[in-house]
Amino acid sequence: MPSTSKTRFIISVAVPVPLRRAFDYRSETDIKPGSRVLIPFRNRQLVGVTVPVPPDKSISKYKDVIRVLDSRPSISPDMLEFYTWSANYYHHPIGEVIHTALPPNLRKTVKLYDPDTPEYYMQNTSIPEQEVLNTLSRAPKQKRLYSSLCNGQCLSIDEIQKLPQISDIRNVRSGMQNLIRKGLVTQTHRPVDETRPFEGTLNPEQSKVLSSIKATEQGFHTHLVHGITGSGKTEIYLHAIHDCLNQGQQVLVLVPEISLTKQLVERFVNRFGDRVHCYHSGVNKTQRYRTWWKAGNGTAGVILGTRSAVFMPILNLARIVVDEEHDLSFKQMDRFRYHARDLAIKRASLQDIPIILGSATPSMESMQNAHSGKYHLSTLRKRAGEANLPKIQFIDLRQQPARYGLSSSLISAIRKQLENSQQTILYINRRGYAPIAECPNCKWRAYCDRCDTYLTYHKTSDRLCCHYCGKTLETPEICPQCRSNLFFHGAGTQRIEESLEKLFPDASILRFDRDRIRSFRQLQDTLDAINSGQADIIVGTRMISKGHDFHGVTLVGIINADHGLFSIDFRAPEQLFQDLLQVSGRSGRGQDPGRVLIQTYHPDNPYMEMVRNQDYDSFFESCREERKLAPVPPFSNFALWRVESREREDGLRFLRKIKKYGDSMLSSGNFKSVQIMDPVHSPILRIDEWHRSQLLVNSTTRDHLHQVLKHWVYWIENIPTSQKLRWSLDIDPMEMY
Ligand code: ADP
Ligand code: ZN
Ligand code: ZN
Repeated sequence: MPSTSKTRFIISVAVPVPLRRAFDYRSETDIKPGSRVLIPFRNRQLVGVTVPVPPDKSISKYKDVIRVLDSRPSISPDMLEFYTWSANYYHHPIGEVIHTALPPNLRKTVKLYDPDTPEYYMQNTSIPEQEVLNTLSRAPKQKRLYSSLCNGQCLSIDEIQKLPQISDIRNVRSGMQNLIRKGLVTQTHRPVDETRPFEGTLNPEQSKVLSSIKATEQGFHTHLVHGITGSGKTEIYLHAIHDCLNQGQQVLVLVPEISLTKQLVERFVNRFGDRVHCYHSGVNKTQRYRTWWKAGNGTAGVILGTRSAVFMPILNLARIVVDEEHDLSFKQMDRFRYHARDLAIKRASLQDIPIILGSATPSMESMQNAHSGKYHLSTLRKRAGEANLPKIQFIDLRQQPARYGLSSSLISAIRKQLENSQQTILYINRRGYAPIAECPNCKWRAYCDRCDTYLTYHKTSDRLCCHYCGKTLETPEICPQCRSNLFFHGAGTQRIEESLEKLFPDASILRFDRDRIRSFRQLQDTLDAINSGQADIIVGTRMISKGHDFHGVTLVGIINADHGLFSIDFRAPEQLFQDLLQVSGRSGRGQDPGRVLIQTYHPDNPYMEMVRNQDYDSFFESCREERKLAPVPPFSNFALWRVESREREDGLRFLRKIKKYGDSMLSSGNFKSVQIMDPVHSPILRIDEWHRSQLLVNSTTRDHLHQVLKHWVYWIENIPTSQKLRWSLDIDPMEMY
């Protein structure tokens, strides 16, 4: 048939390119929104997704879709609505948002497939005919295979192969196929495990929280559970989830990156068996696709994942839990800069279901929403079970100087721990050996030539490393300028480890940082070593501070607490408070009481006082007053234009142009609540040979801000920019560096 007589459909396609629009293509068949198509784009072929946008009538010539990849949409209408909302809110290209939301497999041209071929075998329940049984007596191996599945057992090939009575049979799989053909065996899915209820009882505080959660089972509702570390929040989530699963519903649980460890997963699996499915970067692509598939068809009961799991399609989603909601890892820090907690709340509201946020140190945003009545607040003030909160004491570094990070009080406290066979965590938020390599004679310092930062000395590799661009250099033996010996200032995890090895040669010391723990597997092994009591002293960065439930640790020492007290970032005190309380919370979680020693030059600082008293409420009050006065979030909304340029001043010049356009919009419209600051260089000016500058926009009204940004982004996208400059927009930025 000549092609002219075919009906042609014009479809809109979201394409993974940095442009904030959909693109129109021509297709021979009508394609439902949410379907993946292969399309020509410039001189490439890309996988895009059809979206329900009316075609742009002004285009005279359309390109043809190369191939439709999905026979049915791989994205449901409600998910498409959620992705579109996310793209609009973050002013990010819809094509890139959908690309992020798809499991990695589907970003390529693979067809949708059911990853869940039945892998298990069981005997048929009906009594076999004598004739068929006769054939078995002529085939003794088949007969043995058949009887290996006695008593209604349901076994996988692997499990069957391990049975001793058939260990001599080579090809189990084809034997099973023969039995299936004879009608003796069926291939099936593993029956779903029973969920196991909690064996203990919730304490009265926990029960109260659970019943307030249960009181609002239907409809959108945000619960904030503020419970000190170890107060049994996870146990409450497990109860709430249990109820949903029993009604055939599904639950999405979002956790920070680091906490998705074997310990947490095991806790879920112990309770809910194979209904639990994990989704995070440590899970391979096939597994991720499987979870995506089973979430979408309703068979995965619990989806436990890190931030990108917020985009998971879930057929019968009944509830969302966001654990450690204050954690910064929920915010993606590059490209599509979304906040998974905020999107989770939006998703709950679109799907009209309840959501639970939990934290020992809730974010200012969430606590303010609780105070203003938007969220329902529940508080847990005691540790669950037998444990109590640890006691926090300060070591005043003005009176007792520390040598390479360790004061004598801290050293003797560690010694006592070792004598009593108790574990210690030392927290220092800096990896490497020493942050500064300097010549004592001419004051030469090792800088990164690509960034405006010092190079950190790493003794294990004997190299100087840039923690910003990743570049590493051989350490010069002597000063390159005057040939004196170099001196290394300050301490990181490696130096603390070395000092401890000298002080306590018999102790087993374990370093816990990104240089030592590079894979998910290593993380699991290291955590196992701590939990089994193999490590006496653990020296760790922020990685060690969160989520872990170590029962043997009774002393936490904090090497440098002051970092953050005098930062220009308005969030620094909040982060410091959260960090210190979180890492303190690793102490005394078992039977023995815990202690925390904090080394500081500022024990009288009011914030430090609140840390000592573990007084979240006072912290919240005083932080709230400061932020209200400014006003900064949560009392206003931030958007940050970021520009990176090869030439130092180009970024500022570009931002001035942006500001000028923004100001003109403000003066022509009624946007009094929006305030555009002056463009400035970022606090770390140059990273990886790009100079960085930023322009802050602050607004007390979110709607106004977004109206302005919508036009603004469109304008910027359409002005020509050179290859030597790149810009991005960060909505609700969490860091200003
Ligand atoms: P959180 O999530 O607030 O840190 P968890 O739920 O992990 O707290 O509980 C901390 C510890 O207390 C865990 O070891 C948990 O098994 C235990 N636990 C929780 N609830 C109870 C309870 N009601 N009775 C006894 N132990 C409990
Ligand atoms: Zn020198
Ligand atoms: Zn660098």
